[in-house]
Amino acid sequence: MKRRKFIQNASLSTFGIAMGSSVFASKNNNSLFTSEEKKAQNSAENFPLVIATWNVKESTAEAWRVLQDGKSALDAVEKGCNIEEANAEGQSVGIGGLPDRDGNVTLDACIMDSNGNYGAVVYLQNFVHPISVARKVMEKTPHVLLAGKGAEQFAISEGFEKTNLLTEASKKAWEEWKKTSQYKPIINIENHDTIGMLAVDKNGDISGGCTTSGLAYKMAGRVGDSPIIGSGLFIDNEIGGATATGLGEEVLKTVGSFLIVELMRQGKTPQQACEEAIGRIIKKNPNYKDFQVGYIAVNKKGETGYYSIHEGYSVTKYQNGKNENIPSDFYNKK
Ligand code: ASP
Repeated sequence: MKRRKFIQNASLSTFGIAMGSSVFASKNNNSLFTSEEKKAQNSAENFPLVIATWNVKESTAEAWRVLQDGKSALDAVEKGCNIEEANAEGQSVGIGGLPDRDGNVTLDACIMDSNGNYGAVVYLQNFVHPISVARKVMEKTPHVLLAGKGAEQFAISEGFEKTNLLTEASKKAWEEWKKTSQYKPIINIENHDTIGMLAVDKNGDISGGCTTSGLAYKMAGRVGDSPIIGSGLFIDNEIGGATATGLGEEVLKTVGSFLIVELMRQGKTPQQACEEAIGRIIKKNPNYKDFQVGYIAVNKKGETGYYSIHEGYSVTKYQNGKNENIPSDFYNKK
C-alpha cells in the first residue's frame, strides 16, 4: 500500500471510530447479530483455527490438538503459548529469554477470552509460564493485572515453581552485549520475538494470548505492549481479535490491537485492518526504518490478516488440518 493511500485511510477511519455504531452497542455478546447471521458465522468452514506470530509450528500444533479435543480457544492459546515459553532456545519468550540491562529475565504476558475477560502479569521473574499465571489472575482474582513481587507471590500461592530463566546462551549473549552496553531499543528484524496467538474454536468463539521476555537489554522495570490490553492483544468475540509483536513502545502509542479490532468492526478485512495499523505507526514515526512491528488478526468468519513494517516477519497458521509458516507481506519495500 502506498503511503498516501494509507494516510488517507487512516484519517477516514479515525472519523469512523468516533462515529462508529460500536460505541452504542450493548454489552450483551449476542446483541449485534440476528440468529440467522450467527448461524451463518458458525457454519463457516474456517474453524477451528489457530494463528500465531512468527515460526512457532509446535505451539500452533499443540493449540490445534487442544481444539481437536473439543476444548476451548482459551485452553488452546494457553497450551500453545506454553510450548514456546518452555523452549529454552527461543531467546524472547519464557525460559532462555534475553535479560534486561542488569541481567534479569523479566516476563510479560496476557490472555483474553471470548467473554471479554482479561488477565495479565508484568515484570514477572523466575516462572516459565507467565501466560498460565495471567490466566490465574483472570480466573482467580478480582483484578486484571499483577506486577513484579505481587505477581510472584500470587504465582507461588497458585503452585507455580520458581525456576532460573537465564540460560547459559542468554547469559553469554548478555555478557557480550555488556562489552559495549549500547542501549538501542531496536527489535532485530529477523529475530523470532514475542508469541502472540489467536484461536477460534469449533463454535466460532475467539480467545488470544501474548507472552514475551520483552526487549533484550531493556531498562530495569520496562514493560512493553505484550501484557497490555488493547495494545499487545485484544479480543472482541462479536468482531475478532488481534495481537502484536515488535517494538512495544510503538504498539502501545497506537493501541494497535484494539485499533485493528475496531477497524474490523467498521468493515475492514483483517488484512486491511493490520495494514492500516502499521500505517498509523509509520505515519507518526519517521524512524520506522529502524524497528519492526508485526500484527495478526482474525475475524468472526475465520478470515485472517497479517502485516509488518519490514520483511522477515512470518506467521504460523493451523487451519483445515494444515500447519503452515507463512511469510508476511510488509510495508518497507525500499
Ligand atoms: N513486543 C515485545 C515488547 O516490546 C517485544 C517483541 O515482540 O519482541 O516487549
